[in-house]
Amino acid sequence: MGVSKPADALEVMRRLEKLYPGAHIALVFTNPLELLVATILSAQSTDIGVNKVTPALFARYKTAADYAGADVEELESFIRSTGFYHNKAKSIMGAGRELVQNYNGQVPRTMAEIITLPGVARKTGNVVLYNAYGVTEGVAVDTHVIRLSNRLGLSLEKDPVKIEQDLMKKVPKKKWGSFAYLLIEHGRAVCTARKPDCAGCVLNDICPSAFKV
Ligand code: SF4
Repeated sequence: MGVSKPADALEVMRRLEKLYPGAHIALVFTNPLELLVATILSAQSTDIGVNKVTPALFARYKTAADYAGADVEELESFIRSTGFYHNKAKSIMGAGRELVQNYNGQVPRTMAEIITLPGVARKTGNVVLYNAYGVTEGVAVDTHVIRLSNRLGLSLEKDPVKIEQDLMKKVPKKKWGSFAYLLIEHGRAVCTARKPDCAGCVLNDICPSAFKV
């Protein structure tokens, strides 16, 4: 079974929408700042792992100024279990300072602005803009989106920014935000990194990698 041509992105979307009608972000947050911090923490970590540390973190630090003026060791003690906590603490404190200095303490609403924050590249920008503000400027490309885009032939690139450009050409703009979560759900449930369940996959008749990985 399987085909050699790339999967049709719209057909992938239609099938996955049926399978995962409620696909959405797994990080828990109540405002844009919390989402920004959670997304920075999610690098090289699982969303479940991030959700374990954020209740205590968000109870302790409520504003950008709180992060800007944090004691680095105390902040690190809250986020240690998410890994790379020195760098993440640096990014979060730097972002807090930048928000206070240039954005009146608020998380900005455009990609051009949000990627000026330390620790924030396009993936984080897309996640925060879409989920906090409903703003769509691109497709959030994480490790699942990279893997599935490659396997499905939606992009042959390895670089997330180039993959994002390919996906933006193939998926209508109003679906850019939700498409990422469809691929992420499918990446977690079926098309896993180590052992994709091609036999049980609703895309196996249109996927060029079916039964090959
Ligand atoms: S599980 Fe198999 S068939 Fe389904 S998308 Fe992944 S590689 Fe393709």
